[in-house]
Amino acid sequence: MTLHERVTIEPSDICGIEYCCEACGAEILVSIASATQRITVCPVCHDRWIVSDPSAEINAVLEFIGSLETIRETKLNKFKIRLRVSDSLGGVRASRDKD
Ligand SMILES: [Zn+2]
Repeated sequence: MTLHERVTIEPSDICGIEYCCEACGAEILVSIASATQRITVCPVCHDRWIVSDPSAEINAVLEFIGSLETIRETKLNKFKIRLRVSDSLGGVRASRDKD
């Protein structure tokens, strides 16, 4: 018998969006409820994050958050979705076990 581990998350599992600053390495967790605010600079080092205006990437992030909220709050249909996490995490876990 072969066992295959897989990791999935449901939209309700997502508690926030984490921004990682490329300049200082700060990790900023923003709750889904307040994640619709556009963050333009790092709150820690004040490095400017938005370098093009309008930023297609930040607009996509905001649309993703809006869609995520709709998915989390809408329960009209007889299905739910899960996001499947890459199988490569198993390799990461295995390498950590060796330490
Ligand atoms: Zn920073």
